[in-house]
Amino acid sequence: TPDNEFEKLIRPTVIPASKIGVTFDDIGALADIKESLQELVMLPLKRPDLFTGGLLKPCRGILLFGPPGTGKTMLAKAIANEAGATFLNISMSTVLSKWYGEAEKMIRALFSLAAKLAPAIVFIDEVDSMLGRRDQANENELPRRVKNEFMTHWDGLLSKTNERILVLAATNRPFDLDEAIVRRFEHRVMVGLPTSESRELILKKLLAKEKVEGIDFKELATITEGYSGSDLKNLCVTAAYRPVRELLQKEKQKEKDKKDNAVAVKEEPVTNDIS
Ligand code: ATP
Repeated sequence: TPDNEFEKLIRPTVIPASKIGVTFDDIGALADIKESLQELVMLPLKRPDLFTGGLLKPCRGILLFGPPGTGKTMLAKAIANEAGATFLNISMSTVLSKWYGEAEKMIRALFSLAAKLAPAIVFIDEVDSMLGRRDQANENELPRRVKNEFMTHWDGLLSKTNERILVLAATNRPFDLDEAIVRRFEHRVMVGLPTSESRELILKKLLAKEKVEGIDFKELATITEGYSGSDLKNLCVTAAYRPVRELLQKEKQKEKDKKDNAVAVKEEPVTNDIS
């Protein structure tokens, strides 16, 4: 069926839990967030039987918001991994670029695939670009259709307690989200820039497997005020390149010295002749 065709196309963005490769232990700091995510995500995905349909309803939507590079994607992957859930990663650019004009089918296929592969987490990075604010008359037809289709399927989940699917989304621009969408995220978690203490923990985590000596982590955390986790990672990668660069320079110099010596030896007899 056509839906199956779409499911095939979505597959590259589907990661089984066993292949996610990111765990909570890889994430420095963010202890409170890790804890609350565990509670919010684990139960609906692992023990849907505990939700009997009364007051206690399974959480179907969590929004992670905050500046770029603060670990939102990492958190989403780690929680899927911990929960043994399939990770279905979707963004507006994939919806529009590959399936232009058939975006609704793609959304339908996404949810039917999630149901087949449940427990599953549907992750939407940069959710504001896919489910952004209705720009009144200005809104293009396609984004509106994508959004409506998405909400229809999502609402379907809200009305069931036994479906082991959860929508997790991340954004740097929470205020650009459609209000109807924000309402559907029952939990909104801010992932802010790390404090000095958190930066210290993140740096330690990033360098845990490296051979490093004499690093004053406290000092490093103090002077990296305003850095995100991603900035700290880049800093560590750049630092790791330094000895490599120095080694390459030394090798280059050695090569040059060798060449210069060879030229000097060659020129020697000529000089002798003149004398
Ligand atoms: P964006 O909003 O730009 O998508 P994000 O909040 O989703 O960013 P991630 O993609 O999760 O951020 O983080 C980028 C990279 O930064 C990660 O792959 C990781 O290497 C590093 N990083 C960020 N936060 C942490 C952290 N708390 N501990 C360890 N590494 C981190």
